Amino acid sequence: MSAHYDVVIVGGGIAGLSLASALAGQCSVALVEAEQTLAYHTSARSARQLIPSYGPPVVQELTVRTLDLIAARDAERPEPVLTPRSFMLIGDDATVRAEASGRMQRITHAEALELCPVLLPESFSAAGLDTGSFACKAPVLLEDHRRRAEAGGVDIITGARVHSAQRLGTGWELGAGQEGFEAAVVVNAAGAWADELAVLSGVEKLGLQPYRRTAAIVDVENPLPATCPMVAAADDSFYFRPDDGQVLISPAEHVPSGPEDARPHPGDIERLVARINTVTTLGIRGVSQAWTGLRTEAADGVPVVGFDAEATGFFWLAGQGGYGFQTSSGIAELAAGLILAGQGAAATPPTEASPASRTAEALAATRWSIRR
Ligand SMILES: Cc1cc2nc3c(=O)[nH]c(=O)nc-3n(C[C@H](O)[C@H](O)[C@H](O)COP(=O)(O)OP(=O)(O)OC[C@H]3O[C@@H](n4cnc5c(N)ncnc54)[C@H](O)[C@@H]3O)c2cc1C
Repeated sequence: MSAHYDVVIVGGGIAGLSLASALAGQCSVALVEAEQTLAYHTSARSARQLIPSYGPPVVQELTVRTLDLIAARDAERPEPVLTPRSFMLIGDDATVRAEASGRMQRITHAEALELCPVLLPESFSAAGLDTGSFACKAPVLLEDHRRRAEAGGVDIITGARVHSAQRLGTGWELGAGQEGFEAAVVVNAAGAWADELAVLSGVEKLGLQPYRRTAAIVDVENPLPATCPMVAAADDSFYFRPDDGQVLISPAEHVPSGPEDARPHPGDIERLVARINTVTTLGIRGVSQAWTGLRTEAADGVPVVGFDAEATGFFWLAGQGGYGFQTSSGIAELAAGLILAGQGAAATPPTEASPASRTAEALAATRWSIRR
């Protein structure tokens, strides 16, 4: 016997959970997660920073909206998700100028060193500062979405990998673990596995590519002031930020991977520590934890949000890349609106779509049409 829902969300990371809480109470929803725990993969491995000046314009818009939505919730809860923490970009004049957006102010070399005294002065010549950036208590945000979803009647099923999905009549039939589900809409929030889920559903994949990114928490001889911004190289060669008396560091690598439970490769952490020691006086003494996650991107670097152009009722919520937390509530609001209005199928009737249209480009036109 299959359980019937209006919407089945596949994937219990920040994408799936934020949509579940946005849909809660408005239609019947199940969220199905392959792992025994929610947010086991990339959503447990981020740097927990929300940066309005980071990413292409649509990502920046979604980040600003997400910050507004989270701040409104923060006003009602005892433990806030957001804490102000600026974001500082360093490099040479050309790279900082190329990366800096309207949401980032240029600051002087001396001002940058005052904000982050451990930087070696000769390691950069130009800097920009985004004072609208926030540290994010990701576990609190994830738990808030889970609680709101369940309070609004969403069934959350963990330890159930979706192994089959087919379009039957007016809806979808899914098999996950030992369970069966029927739903009008399937949401693909499967992170690095989003293309894999499309293929097993008989939907053409989009060419989404997971990229490895490693980070570590380290003990240092010269701690960062608590007020130090997150500091990132404009050439994407490293970033670091304070982390409760320790320091979070990353080589900001962008290395293609298959979908997997990613782990640091031998030598990754040693090279990272050596790199950070060449640009700072932090004096890294030891590594207390290190991890690798997968940032999954579409070819154009823009998150994929919308109904598939040809597969009726198949909704993409993927390709959030390095912006999954900072865009989460804005994207969930947008996705919930599309799903509840049922706009996707109506906007792009399958009869008008050629096989070639089922590409990232065609989907890009569909996914952002409601924003224009
Ligand atoms: C080192 C690092 C630093 C980052 N820093 C930031 C940051 O500071 N700010 C920011 O905004 N973003 C950051 N990101 C990016 C952010 O973490 C991701 O964009 C976000 O977590 C992606 O969430 P998701 O829900 O799409 O994917 P995931 O968290 O991977 O969730 C997808 C889920 O789908 C499940 N799944 C897959 N296939 C199936 C199936 N067949 N059946 C059932 N379940 C399935 C998986 O088990 C997984 O739990 C960072 C990423 C990394 C790696």
